[in-house]
Amino acid sequence: MKEKVLIFGHKNPDTDSICSSIVHEILDKKNGWDTKAVRLGNINKETQYVLNYLGIEAPELIEKVEEGQEVLLVDHNEFNQSVEGIEKAKILGVTDHHRIANFETSDPLYYTAKPYGCTATILFEEFKTLGHKIEKTEAVLMASAIISDTLLLKSPTTTEHDKKALEELGQLAGINIEEYGLEMLKAGTDLDDFSAEELVNLDAKNLEKDGTKFVIAQVNTVSIEDVLKRQSELEKAMKDEITKKDLSLFVLAITDILNSNSEIIALGNKAEVVEKSFNTKLENNRAFLEGVVSRKKQLLPNIDKNI
Ligand code: MG
Ligand code: MG
Ligand code: MG
Repeated sequence: MKEKVLIFGHKNPDTDSICSSIVHEILDKKNGWDTKAVRLGNINKETQYVLNYLGIEAPELIEKVEEGQEVLLVDHNEFNQSVEGIEKAKILGVTDHHRIANFETSDPLYYTAKPYGCTATILFEEFKTLGHKIEKTEAVLMASAIISDTLLLKSPTTTEHDKKALEELGQLAGINIEEYGLEMLKAGTDLDDFSAEELVNLDAKNLEKDGTKFVIAQVNTVSIEDVLKRQSELEKAMKDEITKKDLSLFVLAITDILNSNSEIIALGNKAEVVEKSFNTKLENNRAFLEGVVSRKKQLLPNIDKNI
């Protein structure tokens, strides 16, 4: 029997990757297509808060896909952020809100790319276009993804589309967005029982430019100072990743979700790139970046230009 079409977000999945995969499956069922949401990594605590709130199970974990497996990608397109075997899978569609890079298919496909703050906002608009009713479950899932990706609409990635979607989804879900959102974001900042290795990989993105490999990882917190208490073990874990993946640069952004700033730790033989990118000096491998919260709009474009 042929395997179902699989839907998944990126490795080190965040709330958007998980929630948008589940919502995509719900939307497909309404359209009469039998697809299945899966995931490429552990559920983080923020996402677990959402799943617990709704009393639903996490999608099944997969490690790789077989040649010819039909897949739908959400919240990513770059192959180095995707599943093992993606080069030989049959990509039927992509729904994403990132730059398009390191991506190629041999067959035509559905590709929806919008420069919104969140994949779930694109899915919300698809519900509208298709005239499907949005039930509470998918309303909470999409609202959670938008809150996560836009840090409660405070990130510079936020668009009018995200604001409008979140407002309506809050009403449909019957939740107070501010209260629910803050609880959900705070659940994701509980980092105590993670090892340094887990922390630097929790939300790490593998990136590449002209053969130069680098990683930008991010952790959310309500106290940068608390996370910095672990700086030396974090640096050790970052150095291990640099060796293991042959990286030129590893940037860890420790993002204060309440005040919308980030402290970065930068290591690697191209660490000076971040000095040029943000017109700053690294001291003790660190720099404070005022008003910087977005990897996609602030960290990545600047680093990518200078690396
Ligand atoms: Mg994501
Ligand atoms: Mg996203
Ligand atoms: Mg993110």
